[in-house]
Amino acid sequence: APASRVLIVSNRLPSTVRVDEGRVQLTPSAGGLATGLRGVHDAAGSTWIGWSGAPAELPSATRREIALRLAEVDALGVPIHGPEIAGFYQRFANGVLWPVLHDRDDHPDPDPDDWATYRAVNARFAAVVAEEARPGDRVWVHDYHLMLVPRLLRARRPDLRTGFFLHTPFPDSMASLPQRRTLLDGILGADVVGFHTPAYAARFGDAVRATLGRDVELASGAGFADDDGRAVSVHACPMSVDAAGFAARATDPRVIRRVQELRAAGGPLFVGVDRLDHTKGIPERLAAFERLLDERPELRGRARLLQLAVPSREDVPAYRELRARVEALVARVNRRFATLAWQPVTYVYGSVDEVELSAMYCAADVMLVTPLRDGMNLVAKEFVASRIDEKGVLVLGEHAGAAAELRAALLVDPRDAGELSRAYARALDMSPAERRVRMRRLRARVDAHDVRRWADECLALLGADLQASERRG
Ligand code: UDP
Repeated sequence: APASRVLIVSNRLPSTVRVDEGRVQLTPSAGGLATGLRGVHDAAGSTWIGWSGAPAELPSATRREIALRLAEVDALGVPIHGPEIAGFYQRFANGVLWPVLHDRDDHPDPDPDDWATYRAVNARFAAVVAEEARPGDRVWVHDYHLMLVPRLLRARRPDLRTGFFLHTPFPDSMASLPQRRTLLDGILGADVVGFHTPAYAARFGDAVRATLGRDVELASGAGFADDDGRAVSVHACPMSVDAAGFAARATDPRVIRRVQELRAAGGPLFVGVDRLDHTKGIPERLAAFERLLDERPELRGRARLLQLAVPSREDVPAYRELRARVEALVARVNRRFATLAWQPVTYVYGSVDEVELSAMYCAADVMLVTPLRDGMNLVAKEFVASRIDEKGVLVLGEHAGAAAELRAALLVDPRDAGELSRAYARALDMSPAERRVRMRRLRARVDAHDVRRWADECLALLGADLQASERRG
């Protein structure tokens, strides 16, 4: 056995468990954290600890089968009960923390019982990790669901070296969150704290100084001394995608065939791929497309927008409202402009497999990635990695973490409908030469900074024994 393992800890596992009439089914989890870390997990021979997605109230035979199926993919489940899913996951993490981290203050007040549930579930994660970890293992905790785990784990296992990575932005202000002191202190239980961008790392530093009164102490870059004098170092490591994998898939005959089908109607094709989430700016994007059709009549009957909305957090009321709003907007644009021969917006509520996803990226004349705020946005990088033809234009919201790296995109203010629709038009009018130069620069960045490099950097900071892990991979 290798000297040291990596334990990946996140709320969701790479596979989501569904139990259908007693039958256990595993499907790949959606979202950037799952897709990005899955490859790292496969290559590094790590153990992944998280919630299966199914409530813990199941017959013991089913629970045993779930544990076995998860063990096959080197995953270990943390049980979460139905009422805890509502309080911890739906209400506190996704209903309150998520909007706060994206600088929205239109969230409900956090309920004290939900906060207690959040703490209880974090304590259970820490207990499972403390039990599983062997001396010398490195623990890599992910994201906003588990901010208290580093501190709680340190109380049980001070011997373990622990990293925490936040996949969301770090906000300008946490003022609307009464629990911010405890949450920030929870993160500082780690030895290494990572963010996607230097700006997020700097804002975290400001928040720690303002809220906890602790100051930057380390000579070697940014960091803090914890109460016990232990150093906590803070880093910016931008997450990325499997660039070579997307490039290879662009030549898959199934992808090429689907690209031809998607482009068969002729005319410029705009594409959007997002989880259906408030942060993604989907209504703003649709409104700007409507404006483009208003202002450029020659595009009517020709230009199309293909929008994939991946279902997300359907149990959170605000997400159901968003879905209704988006679908009403799609219907309005189509009602206004559709003809018998042409429908401007094709909207799909669902998820697609990797062939269809690559085909959407490769078919796009213009890829629209216009989140209001987004930790990184891997879709932007996946699109770039897919375009081995060096065609296609990326319109990218300036508040996505990816905008810090993808400077050769057409960067836009995602709330400004006029600016957005002008960027759409500019993308259509762009000369082939400019398009190629921009795409080359984007591709150079993503190729040189792929997800493997992100993981290597993070794991090196954690002091993980990479060579031992590689041998198992
Ligand atoms: N994705 C998915 N299912 C789909 C379409 C896309 O899982 O049907 C993936 C996509 O490939 C990307 C991730 O979901 O890797 C979205 O990550 P991103 O960072 O863009 O946003 P997040 O959903 O994490 O906010």
